[in-house]
Amino acid sequence: MPLATDLSNLFLPSNCAVCGRLPKPLCDVCFDTLRFESKQVNRGELSGQSLGEYRDQLATVINSFKERGQRNLGVLLGNELAKRLTRPDAHLLVAAPSATARGFVPAEIVAGALGKAWAMPVARLRIRPGGQDQSQLHRSDRLVNLVNRIWSPIPLSGKKVLLVDDVVTTGATLTEMARAVVVAGGEPIGFITVAETIPKSLTKF
Ligand SMILES: [Zn+2]
Repeated sequence: MPLATDLSNLFLPSNCAVCGRLPKPLCDVCFDTLRFESKQVNRGELSGQSLGEYRDQLATVINSFKERGQRNLGVLLGNELAKRLTRPDAHLLVAAPSATARGFVPAEIVAGALGKAWAMPVARLRIRPGGQDQSQLHRSDRLVNLVNRIWSPIPLSGKKVLLVDDVVTTGATLTEMARAVVVAGGEPIGFITVAETIPKSLTKF
């Protein structure tokens, strides 16, 4: 299955993720309907920025990128982050590792484009084997599944580190990434995500 999917992505032009009409990953008309913001987001002790809420066309674009493997959409989103958000004073970016088998790591594509635009190197984080595929788990079980499993294969001593993920919901993944950065000797200074989902526990306030 993955081979066939990869080949079709290589050789067939994919139509616009939003309208499905024009042979571009995201047509100009639909691009203009994406209302990107520069949004301040806070989760626990971490603060960060994103391009907007995870809904409407932005959710459609993110889903096409992640679930249909349209990597060029991830690059496009990374470039928009670089253009619209404030570049923090960080030494490097780390991308959220993926516990979902897809053949690629979405946050690494976004972080790659962002790092290129901001001239910031990107380091990879890893997940120790032994857990379950995140996509098969209920949201409340995902943090439990990741706790103490994310790690940095390289030392990050003395580095100010910016965390990157595609979508932040509860902040559980970012919190676990921050822990891994600290264990490797680095200092997590905040995060960047393409979009924010507002969890029910936060909408009460
Ligand atoms: Zn379109």
